[in-house]
Amino acid sequence: MPGLDQKQIEHLEAMMNERWTREFREIRSLFSGQDEERQEVTLGASVDEASDEALLARLATVDDPLIRQNLQDVRDIIGARQRIAAGNYGECIDCGADIAYERLLAYPTAKRCIDCQREHEKRKAGR
Ligand SMILES: [Zn+2]
Repeated sequence: MPGLDQKQIEHLEAMMNERWTREFREIRSLFSGQDEERQEVTLGASVDEASDEALLARLATVDDPLIRQNLQDVRDIIGARQRIAAGNYGECIDCGADIAYERLLAYPTAKRCIDCQREHEKRKAGR
C-alpha cells in the first residue's frame, strides 16, 4: 500500500467506523419517529431489529434529502473499505498519486488527490 502505513490506515478505518455508527444512529432515529407497525411495513422489522444492511437496502428507495445524504456518506465508507481490501486505498482514482495523509484525516473517504478533486469539481460545475 503506497504512502500510508498500516497504523495510519487503521486509524482512518477507525474514524470511518465511528462515522458509520453515527450515520446509522441518525438513520435509525429518523425511522423510529414512525410507529412500530409502519416500521415493520417499511423495514420488515422494527428499526431496532433491522440490520444495517436491511436499512441500507431500504434507504435506497427513500426520497428524502436527509436520508440521501446519510446514504451517500455510508456508500462512501463502503467504497473506502473496498479500496482498503483491494490495497489501493489512499491512491487517487484519477492520477494514481498518493493522497496526502492530512487530507485523509480530514476526509477519510477521499477518492482523489486535492488537485484532481478540484478538477473534478470544476468539470462537475460545467466550467
Ligand atoms: Zn490525482
